[in-house]
Amino acid sequence: MKSTARSELFRELPSVDEFLRKPELAALINEHGATVVTDAARAVLARVRREIGSGLLDPDSLQVALAGMPAAIEEQLRRDTQYSLCPVINATGVILHTNLGRAPLTHSAFSHIAQIAGGYSNLEFQIEGGARGKRDVHVERLLRKLLNESAKQHEISTIVVNNNAAAVLLTLNTLADGGEVIVSRGELVEIGGSFRIPDVMSKSGAILREVGTTNRTRVADYENAINARTRLLLRVHRSNFEISGFTEQPSIAELNDLARRRGLPLMEDLGSGALVNLENFGIRGEPNVLDSLRAGVDIVTYSGDKLLGGPQAGLISGHAELVSRMRSNSLFRALRVDKLTYAALEATLLAYIKREHDAIPALKMMRLTVEEIEQRAQKIEKQIRSPRLKIEIIDGESVVGGGAAPSSVLPTRLLALTHERSSADEFAARLRRSDPPVISRVEEARVLLDLRTVFPEQDELIIAALERIAE
Ligand SMILES: *Cc1c(COP(=O)(O)O)cnc(C)c1O
Repeated sequence: MKSTARSELFRELPSVDEFLRKPELAALINEHGATVVTDAARAVLARVRREIGSGLLDPDSLQVALAGMPAAIEEQLRRDTQYSLCPVINATGVILHTNLGRAPLTHSAFSHIAQIAGGYSNLEFQIEGGARGKRDVHVERLLRKLLNESAKQHEISTIVVNNNAAAVLLTLNTLADGGEVIVSRGELVEIGGSFRIPDVMSKSGAILREVGTTNRTRVADYENAINARTRLLLRVHRSNFEISGFTEQPSIAELNDLARRRGLPLMEDLGSGALVNLENFGIRGEPNVLDSLRAGVDIVTYSGDKLLGGPQAGLISGHAELVSRMRSNSLFRALRVDKLTYAALEATLLAYIKREHDAIPALKMMRLTVEEIEQRAQKIEKQIRSPRLKIEIIDGESVVGGGAAPSSVLPTRLLALTHERSSADEFAARLRRSDPPVISRVEEARVLLDLRTVFPEQDELIIAALERIAE
């Protein structure tokens, strides 16, 4: 369309003020108030302007668009007042998917949240004595049960902060502000873009003392770096990568021995920090909190929403005397968590204590067998009637994700979809636009659905979504 014709179309558009005076809008303004209706009118007019600008409208279709504007504004208002945060179906097979909110919570966690959230609670109150209490007690008593058998020599205590990044920051700041912390060059990791050990170290006020090389670090390297300014030995779990080939890393026992000889604390950033032995779940190489404490590590830091399967949180467990120094650091006040996190964490930890591991969705998903997944895949395949959609069931791998167990994959069976008329990318986009959105993987021109991370009660929703968009 020529630009003169376009500028005529632009002239046909009412101004926002003219538009708001239309009688059709009076009811909307009455109901929602002038401000939000004005915002919505602006958004709709801007959209029409863009459509004219890109030549999508001719004089006739502009009249149609103008006539439909009150309805468009109503639709815009509806969208503006909808939640932005919404549930999705995770069919990616990545169990702890950071972009999809990591660990789904156990039922008891959300019923406990619901119980605590809407009213008052004894968050920092001792009901017996009527005095002020500490918020830590609610989860500390449970972690004592779960961890204390590990440490014969001293009492284990735990505090909770916003996430593991905060746990590392608080620990370094408390134990090493102004002093040096020795770390192997093979462990200067970056996790998910914004968490880098050297950066957190400098924010904490501690000075990073790198030792060894990327692939090989010996205990003697740590020993040679110790001087009067050394405050801490730090081991960082290589959560999201592996170094293989010509490598060497001292064992925790060797580091513990060195720490004891030189009178320094030993800290380990575990990242994931499982509370059970994951070897039974087919996951290898993921250290658990108990193993580290048993081996003599003084302080471990780990996430609440990784392998633990709970809410976003950072846990600091270890030597009670060191933990109490962290509790009195003013940074702790800035990093502490609210009652909802305590409620969720308390419920998750109780499931561990009662040994109800299958109630924790992330653990349950790890334990699903290939046969269970295959059966569900077959059921879905049988119910899809559309001749346009080709469905195969193929071998594949699920992953733990969330920067945990980089080399541990779990064998699975995948639904592999090809559509007669749309490309895999288009089909995946339509799955994302269904309600609820279905998030898949695209590989080799096929859409792949891994039911390991789909809750069984969502299988029906997947069938409905496939039937609808396959047409
Ligand atoms: C994931 C991870 C972190 C960051 O934990 P968040 O809970 O995401 O803040 C830090 N260190 C290691 C080793 C990790 O794996």
